[in-house]
Amino acid sequence: MRMKDRLDTYAVWEALKEGSECPLCALRRKTERTLIARSLGGAVMSPDDRQRVNRAGFCPAHHQQLYQQKNRLGHALLTLSRLQTLLPQVDRAIDEAGYGNPRKGKGLFRREEAADAPTGALHSLTASCVLCQELEAQSARQAETLVYLWQHDPEFAAAFTASKGLCLPDTARMIDLAGKLPAAARQPFLSALRQGLAGSLKRLEQELDWYTQKFDYRNQDAPWGQSKDALERTANKLRGWCLGPEPMEDDGK
Ligand SMILES: [Zn+2]
Ligand SMILES: [Zn+2]
Repeated sequence: MRMKDRLDTYAVWEALKEGSECPLCALRRKTERTLIARSLGGAVMSPDDRQRVNRAGFCPAHHQQLYQQKNRLGHALLTLSRLQTLLPQVDRAIDEAGYGNPRKGKGLFRREEAADAPTGALHSLTASCVLCQELEAQSARQAETLVYLWQHDPEFAAAFTASKGLCLPDTARMIDLAGKLPAAARQPFLSALRQGLAGSLKRLEQELDWYTQKFDYRNQDAPWGQSKDALERTANKLRGWCLGPEPMEDDGK
């Protein structure tokens, strides 16, 4: 294993120990926080990172997260740099669509026809995000690390089997990855994934059901049990982490 991958095994173990609805989501969110902080730190001035930002830009969700960091100058410098890269590309892409280019458009009729012309080049200028790309690359590696640990660390396999499993999207991702395992290891892994998910969904159904019943005044004084954050955890299980407290936050990173 490469050094980088060995660091990943530690991180995947830590994520599993959190006991959340999905260790891969917990790790992904932690990675995302690190990427956001880095984007506005050293990366603002590093030519390599800057160029990657210029090429891909940021998606709306990541613009929001950068904005929340309240480093307006860093955020503005990155955005200015991206804007300057984009300017000539936007011009070319609109030309390609035949829109508003006096050399191609002939009068009003030509312009109306052009509204149906393919705008693929223009769309593609808003389809990429440097942070989504980096996050996906790291998530893919973390997912592979989980498979590696399953295969090589019996203690991890036991802890994973006893855990709440993964969220629905990450279960799908891992089922795809399971093909990389040798046949003997594949079936137990698939069973653990299936049982983790099925058990969680049944448990969450009960927890969320009780959560809704707690709104009935007759249940006002009944104990919450595990249901207090059932809404957040169910949404996280169904779609990947998106609600509730930040996972893996108290480890100083
Ligand atoms: Zn997940
Ligand atoms: Zn993004």
